[in-house]
Amino acid sequence: MRLSCEVIRDLLPLYYDKVCSKESSSLIEEHLANCPQCVDELKKLKMDFENPTISDGKVKLMENISAKWNKDKRVSFTKGSMLISALAAMICFISYNVIGAEVLPDGTLVEPFGLIPIGYIFVLIFIISLICNFIFLKKYKIKTK
Ligand SMILES: [Zn+2]
Repeated sequence: MRLSCEVIRDLLPLYYDKVCSKESSSLIEEHLANCPQCVDELKKLKMDFENPTISDGKVKLMENISAKWNKDKRVSFTKGSMLISALAAMICFISYNVIGAEVLPDGTLVEPFGLIPIGYIFVLIFIISLICNFIFLKKYKIKTK
């Protein structure tokens, strides 16, 4: 039985997915043996399945969005930690000034709750966040060029 190319081409996706009956696939194979055009059609089908060109643009777009989102997340994270550490450092120093420190007669500084070292730690965190923020922004600018 000789089927028309049109019928074969309708069946090719099913043949490719191996969901058609044995009889159909043997008919298709028989046809493919004598019809180079349909073999080409099957090759095209394979290429379409293996390299989905339609979604290429979409994939790129998704990558851009996720890159931007990651960048935003990082920048807002560093900005947030900058703000929090600056605020915490300020609170430490202000409360230190409010509570006050005492210098003992032997010269040792008695400070409440170790506010000064904690304050300096927050200042350090603030500086690190500032540098990270700067690096992230710079990286992003290079990427978008
Ligand atoms: Zn054919």
